[in-house]
Amino acid sequence: MGVARLTRRSGLIARAVWDSKYSPRPLLTTQSLVARSKIALSPHHTKPFSTSPSLSCARHQSTSGEPPSIAEPPAKPKNQTQTDIPGADPADRYAAGLRLNKEWAAQTARNQPELFPTLASGQTPQILWIGCSDSRCPETTFLGLQPGDVFVHRNIANILHPGDLSSNAVIEYAVQYLRVNHVVVCGHTCCGGVSAAMGNKNLGILDPWLFPLRQLRERNLELLQSMPAEEASSKLAELNVREGLNIVKQKSVVLNAIRDRGLQLHGLVYDVGSGVLSELDTQDSEEVIRARLTAFQTE
Ligand SMILES: [Zn+2]
Repeated sequence: MGVARLTRRSGLIARAVWDSKYSPRPLLTTQSLVARSKIALSPHHTKPFSTSPSLSCARHQSTSGEPPSIAEPPAKPKNQTQTDIPGADPADRYAAGLRLNKEWAAQTARNQPELFPTLASGQTPQILWIGCSDSRCPETTFLGLQPGDVFVHRNIANILHPGDLSSNAVIEYAVQYLRVNHVVVCGHTCCGGVSAAMGNKNLGILDPWLFPLRQLRERNLELLQSMPAEEASSKLAELNVREGLNIVKQKSVVLNAIRDRGLQLHGLVYDVGSGVLSELDTQDSEEVIRARLTAFQTE
C-alpha cells in the first residue's frame, strides 16, 4: 500500500472514530434548549436545529475556492441600505446606525415602557455568551433576546487562552457576581480566524492569538486532512468550541457554581449561512469529571 493511500485510509479511520464519538448532537431541538435554559425565543427560532453545522459558506468563498480568511476580508457588498441624513454618505452604516438608534429607542420605549427603566436599575442576565467577534454573529439578535439578557465576551475566533486576563475577568464576574445560569461557548461556520489557522500565512500579531487553533489543527491533522477544506474548517470551529468549554470547566469558580447551584454549560455552532444554531454533545464521562475536579477545584 502506497504512502498516500495509507495516509488517506488512516485519515478515514480517524474520521469514522471521531464521528462515532463526537458528532454534533442531532436530536437536540430548539425546544429542548429552551426547556433547559428557560429562555423565551422568538417564533422564527422554533424550527429544530440542523443535524450538523451546514456548510453554507460557499457563497462567501473567494475565487480561489478557499473560505474567506481573516487575513483576506471579502469585498464589501455595494448595495447597502441607504440613510437619509442630509449630506451623509448614503452607504455609511455608522450614520445609518445613529439614525436607526433613535427610531429603535423610541419604538422600544413605546412598546415596552418598563424595559429601559428596569435596565437602568441593573442587570440580571441569565446567560454568559463567549463567541466570535465576527460581525455576522450578533448573539442577542439571533437568539431573539433583548438588552439585559446576555452578558458577552467576544474575540477573534472565540478562543479562550487559559491565562487571558480579559476572558478570565468576564467569566469570573458573570459566574460569581451576576450568577448567570448558563455559560455558552459558540463558534461559527465561515470563521475567518479558523480559516487563517487552516492556512500557513504569517499573520503577525494574529499568530500568537490563533496559536490554540493551530495546536488543535496539529492534534487532529489526519481527521482534518480527510475532509474537504470547508468541512475541515467547520470541524476545527467545532473542536475549538469543545476546547473552549474544557478551559471554562477548568476554572474553580465554574466548578463550584456547577456543584452549588447547577450552572449549565453549552457548546454551540452558529451557521452563518442559515442563521441556525446547533448544540454539540459536550457531556463528559464520570472519569473525566473526577479527574478535572481533582486537578482544578479549589476553595
Ligand atoms: Zn469567527
